[in-house]
Amino acid sequence: MPVLTEAAIKDLAGFKSDDDAPVVSCYLDVDGRRQVRAQDYERRLAALVRDASAGPSGALIAKDLELITAHVARGLDRSGVRGLALFSCASKGLWEVVELPVPVASRIVVNQSPAVGSLESIVQELEPLGVLLVDRQRARMFVFQFGELVDRSELFEALPRDYDRRDDAGRGYEREQQHTDELAAQHLRHAAEVAFRLFQDNGFGRLTIGATDEVYAAIEPLLHPYLRERLSPRIGVGAGASEAEVRAAAMLVEQEVERQKEAALVAKLRDALGTGTKGVAGLAATLNALNERRVATLLVSEGYTESGWRCACGALAAKGPTCPLDGQEMQHVDDILHDAVDTALGQGCHVEVCVGNADLDVHGRVGALLRY
Ligand SMILES: [Zn+2]
Repeated sequence: MPVLTEAAIKDLAGFKSDDDAPVVSCYLDVDGRRQVRAQDYERRLAALVRDASAGPSGALIAKDLELITAHVARGLDRSGVRGLALFSCASKGLWEVVELPVPVASRIVVNQSPAVGSLESIVQELEPLGVLLVDRQRARMFVFQFGELVDRSELFEALPRDYDRRDDAGRGYEREQQHTDELAAQHLRHAAEVAFRLFQDNGFGRLTIGATDEVYAAIEPLLHPYLRERLSPRIGVGAGASEAEVRAAAMLVEQEVERQKEAALVAKLRDALGTGTKGVAGLAATLNALNERRVATLLVSEGYTESGWRCACGALAAKGPTCPLDGQEMQHVDDILHDAVDTALGQGCHVEVCVGNADLDVHGRVGALLRY
């Protein structure tokens, strides 16, 4: 499954096995922003595998667990990969690895079909990016999803050759120039149509345009309103760029959009803290809100780690060893933020790891927007 699409997920979800050969679905958080070393997530996987082996289907899934462990141990290229989803049913020939651009709650699920719920929500949230490169004769439209090219369309409408100087002072020149401008305007209308057609096919969330100032100004009003409201910052490549250049520039736009999204959430948190409603900041208060299942969005600064405490009941705390919920003795953990992200994802919260956001750092490097 090279690209995560609704169709690919439906295919996967359609796989049915039986009680004798259950499917192992393994989600693993491999986010390098929080887990710097490979051994961090390998250790987490080993613990999940141990639990699954000890479960009721342990004997039936030994081969699957072995394959999953071996795959992860071979090493991952984590550039752009923050989560991993592995699906295995060795005796029925099922093996799928999906690399995800977002972190996921680490867990192993054993069932008769692949557990694809998390993939569904990721696909819904991460919409494709449309890229339109356009000049007066060419229009090239690309759709990227998770850095992969999923659709493209090219249009070339040649303009008459540059006007012959033979009568460049005469009325003929003016008429021909006007004709060329009309053709170019028609070409831009066609380009806008191509962009809208690919939007209808792929439903991209944002559109970025590569064009000169003049062409940009001309095409912007021609875009369908749905596309105009999805316009992202312009891309710095022209209509003649190579596919690799387009992809690299598209990824920069995605990052910029991501930073803006993070900044908007942190601003929302700051407002919530200011009015004292629906927001908490700092480790202790945030863990408390997670324990109370009040978190809608968890915000964590990239690279923030802190030790803390975890109770068998699932509660998390900055200070131990007594559980705030049931008074049991908690276990000390090296990276409580890992547990916090895991818990938040498990509760269906949105998790945003914020990169270089000084405003969040000021508020204790972690915080949450609350549901109530
Ligand atoms: Zn407890």
